[in-house]
Amino acid sequence: MGMARRISTKVMVGGVAIGGGAPVAVQSMTNTDTADAASTVRQVFDLWRAGSELVRITVNSPEAAAQVARVRGELDALGCDVPLVGDFHYNGHKLLTQYPECARALAKYRINPGNVGKGAKRDDQFATMIDVALKYEKPVRIGVNWGSLDPELLARMMDENGRGANPLDADEVMREALIVSALESAAQAETLGLPAGRIVISCKVSGVQDLILVYRALARRCGYALHLGLTEAGMGTKGIVASSAAMAVLLNEGIGDTIRVSLTPEPGGDRTREVIVAQELLQTMGLRSFAPMVAACPGCGRTTSTYFQELAQRIQEFLRIRMRDWKQRYPGVEEMKVAVMGCVVNGPGESKHADIGISLPGTNEVPVAPVYMDGERTVTLKGARIAEDFQAIVERYVQENYAPGARRHRPARAQVTPIKAVS
Ligand code: SF4
Repeated sequence: MGMARRISTKVMVGGVAIGGGAPVAVQSMTNTDTADAASTVRQVFDLWRAGSELVRITVNSPEAAAQVARVRGELDALGCDVPLVGDFHYNGHKLLTQYPECARALAKYRINPGNVGKGAKRDDQFATMIDVALKYEKPVRIGVNWGSLDPELLARMMDENGRGANPLDADEVMREALIVSALESAAQAETLGLPAGRIVISCKVSGVQDLILVYRALARRCGYALHLGLTEAGMGTKGIVASSAAMAVLLNEGIGDTIRVSLTPEPGGDRTREVIVAQELLQTMGLRSFAPMVAACPGCGRTTSTYFQELAQRIQEFLRIRMRDWKQRYPGVEEMKVAVMGCVVNGPGESKHADIGISLPGTNEVPVAPVYMDGERTVTLKGARIAEDFQAIVERYVQENYAPGARRHRPARAQVTPIKAVS
């Protein structure tokens, strides 16, 4: 296991706790035009249903600000209470004061200190946004991004560095500037009266090693709740791998109170993927459980058909969809482990370690699929309906083991490696 969790100052965003030892929260962001309320409602709803615990929307224009309260109202009518975070750049001070309904409907304001304004205006405009947060009792995220780092601050720090006895290299100054930008803005917000318990910090960069260095320093230098994410992570596997690599290192050190995986969707791709990746990252690291996980073997020359890959995929989808209903009725089911294995080599063994598993027939094996529950071989499936039959068995297993008051579920792993209490 990683180091102890860093305990930051807890921030409540709507009904969701960030930091203070609360579970690491998953968040996401829409890519719809917020002025198009119908599309925004649909996408927020989808992200929430996929498991996003906070959803950020862009509030970039009067037209967008004018629709925020409507978006909130329509989501409430759909039974979707996910807190909405407003993303403000350049004109946040105007939109938040000119559209009080928008300021009220949002659960948190994201302020990018690099995009608040220039020169003397900067402090005034920043103060205006903090005043609105105070008036409506909202938290803010001071969200620094190295693509929009405050140019005046960076120039000042580069100058100071150049005059120093042991100048740092430009990358180090850049990282330090990100941290200083976040911490100075947070201190300024506190001076204006916003308590630390209403401030979340983020410093997003696009390089894995830079992110690790920046957040380690932030964790050392402040007690604020930290929003963790790699910015401009990219598309497809690259985005997933880069985000997971960077965040896993930090999460394992106890750093990070809420995460977002910023994936660029493929054209026509599903925005909810970023939520699923974030959940799977937390679950594979043993930090949280969201839905039963399927252990599947990679397949090899012993399985010449794609049948078992399709089965593994169908089972994973089945679990995800059924989870919406199970979540309400079967507490603890999200920790269930399911195995779908391709042949007799590792199939029975892996299936025995899972709560419920199926070992499919490999090439030249008798075409039957034994099912294991709690480490014991039970029924054997065959024929064209193995997938459906296995799903029905899983459904029954969940009802029998996870319903409140049902026979208490016995974790299969406890049986394999008994843990003795040490007194
Ligand atoms: S369980 Fe069988 S099919 Fe799967 S990878 Fe191992 S040997 Fe290959």
